[in-house]
Amino acid sequence: MRAEAAATCLGVVKIYWTATGEVHALKGIDADFLGGAVTGVVGPSGSGKSSLLRILAGLDRPTAGRVRTGGVEISGLGPRQLRRVRRRMLGYVFQRPADNLIPYLTAEEHLRLAARLRGHRRAEEAPELMEALGIAHRRHHLPRQLSGGEQQRLGFAQAVIGGPALVVADEPTAELDSASGAALLETVRELARRGTAFVVATHDPAAVRIADRTLYLRHGALHAEEEGDRQLAVIDASGRIQLPPRALRMFPDRRARIRIGDDDVRITPP
Ligand code: ADP
Ligand code: MG
Repeated sequence: MRAEAAATCLGVVKIYWTATGEVHALKGIDADFLGGAVTGVVGPSGSGKSSLLRILAGLDRPTAGRVRTGGVEISGLGPRQLRRVRRRMLGYVFQRPADNLIPYLTAEEHLRLAARLRGHRRAEEAPELMEALGIAHRRHHLPRQLSGGEQQRLGFAQAVIGGPALVVADEPTAELDSASGAALLETVRELARRGTAFVVATHDPAAVRIADRTLYLRHGALHAEEEGDRQLAVIDASGRIQLPPRALRMFPDRRARIRIGDDDVRITPP
């Protein structure tokens, strides 16, 4: 079933200006993220995964391009409106577990606060969610009393409570052993079944396996998309396509002959 897009990126570019020059972290990303679907974002370190996720979650603005989430064009909002949309509709899990948490709140208080910010009077799903993630016995503990893995699961619970339209998670299983990683991924699947869209940056093969679709990033560009057993190369808005590294080796001069047939295109070394 193909659902309505929970988020859309159109020509998203991200440039960071640093003391040593410009970093072109995203070079024009076009993608849809569907409601009720889990999208994996995979790519080597530095390929732009976190930059893309932060922009989707409204935590950072694109240098150019447009982002819509939950029917709202967030790239055009002012800071206050953006904060409202982010609180109500978007959940985000930072890569570093401690970054998700407030040092003086207990686990249960985190979930109560997150539910309230999302517009719910009570955190009704909190007990079930903590149970499913194996942190129920930690509900009265502070972040510093939790292990890294427990902090990560609490950060995740806080991002999903109250049913945001889109949950963006940056390597959410990185700190987890395989059993608690599996419990978290099972929760992702269950919440996706109820309609939440998930975008998960990951190196974890188990997380890629539960994704409905996987996007492959390299050097800030999407080069391939995989859905089921079908892998497709991505053609960007300017008509560019990235050759896989194995194919690229056939073109040491970086020049290619292109022959257009009736129903195929052949790319060969000159
Ligand atoms: P990934 O999550 O795939 O490792 P990132 O999105 O973190 O990739 O980074 C993409 C590129 O942008 C890298 O070259 C990284 O060094 C650079 N980058 C990321 N964040 C910043 C920043 N705040 N300032 C400057 N450069 C950054
Ligand atoms: Mg990253």
